Order: sequence, then C-alpha cells, then structure tokens
Amino acid sequence: RINKICRRERVYRMKKNFIVIGLGRFGSNVAITLAETNSDVLAVDIDKDAVKSVSKKVPHCVIADATNLDVLTELGAGSIDHAVVAIGNNLEASILTIVNLKKLNVKKITVRADEEGHKELFKMIGATEVIIPEENAAVFLANQIKSDSIIDYYIIDKDYVMVKINVGKKFTSRTLADLNIRNEFDVNIVGIVRDDEFRIP
Ligand code: ATP
Repeated sequence: RINKICRRERVYRMKKNFIVIGLGRFGSNVAITLAETNSDVLAVDIDKDAVKSVSKKVPHCVIADATNLDVLTELGAGSIDHAVVAIGNNLEASILTIVNLKKLNVKKITVRADEEGHKELFKMIGATEVIIPEENAAVFLANQIKSDSIIDYYIIDKDYVMVKINVGKKFTSRTLADLNIRNEFDVNIVGIVRDDEFRIP
C-alpha cells in the first residue's frame, strides 16, 4: 500500500505545470493545446480580450502584465516548471518578462521570437529555447513534402530525429529481428502503429 501511495505521489509530482504569457495566435494555441491535453497551465495576457478569447478552453487564465515582477510572483510563477513567452513583436516586454522569470528561478523558458537576430539576445538573458514558429513550420513542411512516407517528425538535436513514417509491404511482411533495422539503417524503432493501434516493439 505504501508503495502504491509513493507511486501515486511520484506521478503527482511528475506532472509539469506551465505558464503561457502572451495570447496571440501562437501563445493561445500553445495554452489551449496544453489545457486540452490535461496539463496544468496558466494563460496570461495584459489584454482583456486576448484572455477572454481563450477563457472557454483554458480553465486558468488571468489579465496581467508579465513585465511586473510582483505580479508574476503573486501568480505563483516561481513554482512553474516551464514558461512560454509569446509576446511577439514587443521586444521590451519580452526581455523584461524573461528577466523576471529568470529572477523567479523558472528552469525552462521557451521564447517565441520574430526574428533571427533576437535569438541570441533572448538566450543571453536566460531563455532556454528560442523558436521562430514560421521557420519551424517551413522546415517541417519542406521535409514533409519531400517524402511521401514521412508523416511526422521531431528534431531531438543536431544528430537525432524522431520520425513517423509509412512503411511498405517489404517491411510489414517480416519480423523486426529479421529486418535487422538497427544494423542495416542505424535506426531504432520505438513504436509501431498497426490498425490504428500503437505498440511498443
Ligand atoms: P501572432 O498572433 O501573429 O502569432 P504573436 O502571438 O507572436 O503573433 P501578438 O499577436 O502580438 O503576437 O500577441 C502577443 C500578445 O502578447 C498580445 O496578446 C499582447 O497583448 C500580449 N502582451 C504584450 N505585452 C504583454 C505583457 N507585458 N504581459 C502580458 N502579455 C503581453
């Protein structure tokens, strides 16, 4: 029984919580997706209408100015695991918000940037990841249309990518051991989808 409780405790503690600051198209989609997949997420925007537009789909959302450290502290940002700063083209507000999150010891700070030139600046002041959504979407689209068999992919780092692909009869008619994929292609299979069902090999 104690084991069971401990296990439950661990699961409870393992659930990450997020704050999404800035609810334009990008930030609101991040917040809504997190909420719809049962993550703990607090959505914040300085603008009343922006907050209102996500309020039906995100249970916890507030109107607040993230450039104000006291406000962020009061919102409990200090105990957040991962912050997403999606303030867009307001450079000054993005900078002040990142600095505040850093002061509050938030370990992961993902920032949406509008231009390449801001990437380095955001990283220097504490962003752990900086993304330019248009760039990501373009690379994704180019790779997807290049190959008919790629359904989805995720770049893990410069040497590793996780790819979901369609495989032909040549593969489906044989066993994994027989295919010897790791040695033949330097690829590790982490999952198989067959008849809409996911299995771990
Ligand atoms: P797009 O909508 O084209 O994807 P985006 O999401 O990057 O662009 P905006 O649409 O400009 O950018 O949205 C940025 C949001 O950030 C706005 O809703 C704005 O009100 C909000 N914002 C700006 N300053 C602050 C601040 N100090 N604190 C909280 N939110 C802010």
